Amino acid sequence: MMKKATYAFLTIALAFACAQAKPKDKPAKAEKSARPPFGGTIFVSGNIITAEDPTAFKSVVAAGRAEVRMFDRRPKKPHKVNAYLFTATFDDGQKMEIRVNPEFGAEGAMAQAKKYLPYIGQMPFALREKVQKVLIHKGKKGFGGGGAGLLIHTDMGDSYIRSRILAETLYHEAAHTSLDRWHSASKGWLAAQEKDARFISGYAKSNPRREDIAESYLLYFALRYKPHRIDDKLKETIRTTMPNRIAYFDSLELKMHPVKPAGALARMSTTELQKELKPSDAQKAKIKALVDKLAAEIKKLLEQKSPQAGIDKLKRQFDKQAVELLNAGQRKTLDRALQTPKPQAPGRPTAGKSK
Ligand SMILES: [Zn+2]
Repeated sequence: MMKKATYAFLTIALAFACAQAKPKDKPAKAEKSARPPFGGTIFVSGNIITAEDPTAFKSVVAAGRAEVRMFDRRPKKPHKVNAYLFTATFDDGQKMEIRVNPEFGAEGAMAQAKKYLPYIGQMPFALREKVQKVLIHKGKKGFGGGGAGLLIHTDMGDSYIRSRILAETLYHEAAHTSLDRWHSASKGWLAAQEKDARFISGYAKSNPRREDIAESYLLYFALRYKPHRIDDKLKETIRTTMPNRIAYFDSLELKMHPVKPAGALARMSTTELQKELKPSDAQKAKIKALVDKLAAEIKKLLEQKSPQAGIDKLKRQFDKQAVELLNAGQRKTLDRALQTPKPQAPGRPTAGKSK
């Protein structure tokens, strides 16, 4: 009975969650400064989350079949099907129910669950936390998020995989499920929207209550956790467009497992790094002298018959000198780089703290 109630809520909530279409938006009359830099953020970069990222997904087992109402964008309303059910387990103890449309057949249904779960497990706990159910159908229809679930249409999923934006899209949808209800109308978020005075995308601008969290979170995540995967220009655009939203997300201290924090150096743009490193003329001279010396030594070594021992020795010397040079002038930067923030242990998120 309990399940039914949850389910009704899920289907209703999914009905008004997002259905992303590739945007054509160009807010024509908006002032230039207020024009969002992007149409929709899932299309900005397919490199934010990659196959190299770890997943918290552990296992999936069949849990029989049941007559359930499943929201489906093809008939545009929930319909009752004898779905294949699966229970997925994640390495932080989370469990999810996967409901797959019978149109896939038993084996096909399991294959679909196994296809999408590793991607779902790549999301931080904070995005997975409120996702209790994942609905999987055929069809090239928009994904959805909200209530307590995620909605997947596999033909659209294949298209996202080809464009390498499946993980990014799931981040967006799960942000609807796990963040919207607690944050999209919170005082802090509304104040951040107002202070930023801009939106990161046309999609967010057109749907400020419904899409702004999901649209902003993905690029916030890229900036904070995968800065080495996006270029300086994009980092700068994110920073300058939504500084107050960035501060808001920072303040939540969301549980990020299995996502690892990015080191301080990785978070800096090239310009910032140059500013931060700021070698003095004396240091520059020292570095140049070291490089010249190294070049001369290598030249000498290459003239020898068996240079290996010499190369090893040189390498040891150079390592030592390079470290000394860095220590002399750039202790502050090194300290910051080495100061990796502690990974958050999985557990209750702080979501809901701000009202
Ligand atoms: Zn959305």
